[in-house]
Amino acid sequence: MRHKPPLNWLPHKTETRKPGRLLSLLFPQPPICPLCSTPHKGWLAGLVHPYLCAQCAASVHELFGALCRSCGKESEHGLCPDCVREPHVFLQARAFAKYEGSAEKAVKALKYQNETGLAPVLGEWLALAYARHYGLDLKAWLVPVPMHPLKERRRGYNQAQLLAKEASRHLHMPVVQALRRISEDDGSQTVRSRAQRLTTLESAFALAPGISVAGQHIVLIDDVLTTGGTADACANALIDGGVASVYVLTVAR
Ligand SMILES: [Zn+2]
Ligand SMILES: [Zn+2]
Repeated sequence: MRHKPPLNWLPHKTETRKPGRLLSLLFPQPPICPLCSTPHKGWLAGLVHPYLCAQCAASVHELFGALCRSCGKESEHGLCPDCVREPHVFLQARAFAKYEGSAEKAVKALKYQNETGLAPVLGEWLALAYARHYGLDLKAWLVPVPMHPLKERRRGYNQAQLLAKEASRHLHMPVVQALRRISEDDGSQTVRSRAQRLTTLESAFALAPGISVAGQHIVLIDDVLTTGGTADACANALIDGGVASVYVLTVAR
């Protein structure tokens, strides 16, 4: 997706030199939109503060206004029907945007396509959502939803960890890896019922060894919240450790 500069820019011997190529060496490309690679207007725009181009930003549907008190879904009635039927373990979940358009594209690119250049943009969104929904009075630990170590090794990073790190630069709150994932989702979720899946999830997370979370306010950080099952399972493990509260903050939902 994003055009990375070639490792070896010296032209091949048989290649004809194009004047445009020489110019691009003398004048490097201005910063680009980290989602669609369109160059930003102006040579310094986006250099120290990456952001999406206007076209990509247009399809980001930010979440505020009438939201479910618990899960943060758009809802006119305090609690959405899902939360009435099945209350969550966490206190409250909030997200920056709806999981659609550029927000969905960006989350997927960060998660599956190694587009870690998007983390600063999405991390800033998290910080904005935090200030918008939780205010800045709550001093909490930012706890990324952990990935199973094998999966993290395969991917090379945990996107929730990257997002928490970026958000903490704006919020000045510590990122604490208070949880570990002890079993991996085996991918058979489509053939299992929601209840079966939740039981499996319950035992998937545990407190990280050597960390005391007692009395702490926790903000769980993840890229996207769907059913909230993962966040609930994490909240369970944290509550067992004696935390004061568990909030959830995601880029999208
Ligand atoms: Zn763009
Ligand atoms: Zn709800």
